[in-house]
Amino acid sequence: MFDFTYQAFDARIVFGSGKISEIATEVDRLGGKAALLVSTGSQRAVADAALVALGKNCVARIDGAVMHVPCADVQKAVALTQQYKCDCVVAIGGGSAVGVAKGVALETELPIIAVPSTYAGSEMTDIWGISKGDGKITGRDKRVVPKCVIYDPDLTRGLPARIAGPSGINAMAHSVEALYAQNRNPVLSMIAEGGIRALASGLPAVCDGTADDEARGQAVYGAFMCGLALATATMGIHHKLCHVIGGTFQLPHAETHTILLPHATHYNRDAAPDAMTAIARALDAESAAGGIFDLATRIGAPTVLRDLGLDEKNLDRAADIATEAPYYNPQTVDREGVRALLDNAFHGRRPA
Ligand code: NAD
Repeated sequence: MFDFTYQAFDARIVFGSGKISEIATEVDRLGGKAALLVSTGSQRAVADAALVALGKNCVARIDGAVMHVPCADVQKAVALTQQYKCDCVVAIGGGSAVGVAKGVALETELPIIAVPSTYAGSEMTDIWGISKGDGKITGRDKRVVPKCVIYDPDLTRGLPARIAGPSGINAMAHSVEALYAQNRNPVLSMIAEGGIRALASGLPAVCDGTADDEARGQAVYGAFMCGLALATATMGIHHKLCHVIGGTFQLPHAETHTILLPHATHYNRDAAPDAMTAIARALDAESAAGGIFDLATRIGAPTVLRDLGLDEKNLDRAADIATEAPYYNPQTVDREGVRALLDNAFHGRRPA
């Protein structure tokens, strides 16, 4: 018999091509009469149209949300909500725009309506992060979970392959680790496997420029599922490594995830056989780790850690830090194994 706990968040999901046109209705549904609009630079035109659609119900605007959610940007946004007596925040863009909205919600408890334009998945989670000085503070808080998410695959039309590929594999990483999470359960596993399958089906066409509405929709649907998996699953060795290496050596977020994921998956191959079967099945591949590596190669995403500019002599330090306070992981985390994993990722060897 099944025996598990699955906790979901209370969020309304509106999915489909052209659904950005429902932004005003969704703000209205939440009782919003004075929105702060936050957007990423690349989504300025979409934000302009949203501003028109919202009319007098949008009273303040911030353009150009940037990576890592600087504290100063959050404070500026909070000040605007106070000055204009805002009653909700609309975020249009990737993880950076949603990140600013989450920072505002953390301080003001204003509800968020998110319209994602990448596959990052932040819009589905209670995880927030704000950069201060040279560090990033992160946490979990239900107040930052968007009350409504509009997934409109049309927003990803202009997503270049160099962003779409790593962003998609980064999303997949959430589902891979959900499948062997300490708190895994049948609902989470179904969501995670579905997310990997949908991303694997949509990403190749998105990245080679031949995507139709179906492929774009599959990729966004996969990102939604993977975000949903991240929302409730505990994360393991892969996320630990990405945080350590990305944070300590200032490497790009999605690219680091993309390169390490096949190797972290391979590391867990014997300790999480059911997860490996599900991942391979979703990818229609012979092996989970090999399948992820091959997908990354096929869509032109990075597979070699050295290419991110990391010095090989830093691998020892990375292995030390990653094994100091490990997260739960199905395979015991030992320094020698992690050092070997990093060596394979550094040289971009296909896991066999
Ligand atoms: P991002 O929002 O910075 O977007 C990356 C780049 O893509 C930016 O230059 C942006 O302008 C551009 N872009 C966005 N949408 C585009 C589009 N449709 N077409 C063309 N260009 C577009 O970052 P991201 O990759 O969306 O997200 C990564 C960030 O999100 C990281 O900082 C990560 O820590 C965070 N994140 C947070 C969570 C969470 O739960 N809190 C989950 C996943 C990621």
